[in-house]
Amino acid sequence: MQRLIAALVVMASTVVGGVVQVDEAAQASGVGPAFVVHKLSDTLYAIGEPDYYQKNYSYLLVGSEKALMFDAGANQAADITKVVETITKKPLSVLPSHLHFDHLGGLHNFSSIYLADLPAIRRFKQSDGLYHVPEAVYLGNFDHMTLKPFRVERLIKPNEVIDLGGLKVRLLSTPGHTQDEVALLDETHNVLLSGDHLYPSWLLAGNLADYTTSVAATLELINPDTRIYGAHADEDASRVPAMSYADVQQIHEKLVAIQAGRATGKSFSDPELIRSSKLFEVQKGISILTDITFTDGRGYGY
Ligand SMILES: [Zn+2]
Repeated sequence: MQRLIAALVVMASTVVGGVVQVDEAAQASGVGPAFVVHKLSDTLYAIGEPDYYQKNYSYLLVGSEKALMFDAGANQAADITKVVETITKKPLSVLPSHLHFDHLGGLHNFSSIYLADLPAIRRFKQSDGLYHVPEAVYLGNFDHMTLKPFRVERLIKPNEVIDLGGLKVRLLSTPGHTQDEVALLDETHNVLLSGDHLYPSWLLAGNLADYTTSVAATLELINPDTRIYGAHADEDASRVPAMSYADVQQIHEKLVAIQAGRATGKSFSDPELIRSSKLFEVQKGISILTDITFTDGRGYGY
């Protein structure tokens, strides 16, 4: 497809009061490129896929010695590592936030893959030394995507710090969306990269009890000044999916209310992914989906 081969455009971004604004002239350049880069700081870049239906955002952390992508992008054809090369030539690794297809489309482009050291992940290592993730876990059928077995260079334990040289991020285990969901906390710069644990759109709950516990734990680690960036944009896909501490508090309150049977949900379905679910509105564009059955009839949960 033409647009997948399209050029990589680095958009000029400015940070105004914590809100990232994208250069509108660049945005108005017709059919979008596969990836759009937003510079958030000297050590952090968001790489968005605004034309992809799930509006994914992956994040590039750049230390003085190494660079790390948090998520591999959804795009299977255009090579996200080529985008990274326009930003840094430092040795690059990738750490997926979790093993869902839309975070792994570009995994094959990386020569160094990190994964979280969790039982839910370790079980995929086979005698050939490679990780064989079943389709039932990565759900690639939705995007006609096949995840080939891959080698893992490093397993990162929960709470372990990844040192990129002058830039340290702590891996947080945040189950709820999936069992293997993780987030990265940069305590020095007060930034949380929250993957599918938290983003300002519709959150898919695989396990409500775990989700509630994880969001409560996250609230203990962040503060009202923490900049929080998630893996999926809201309706405006050109905006980096940033959230506030208050958003997270409200999500937590809603999760507690759902669990206690105090929240009122409504039925939701969409033709692309979800046959049926219960939708609980949190605020503006943020909702929590539970009791999900996908369009192919598979249930979602653990
Ligand atoms: Zn996911």
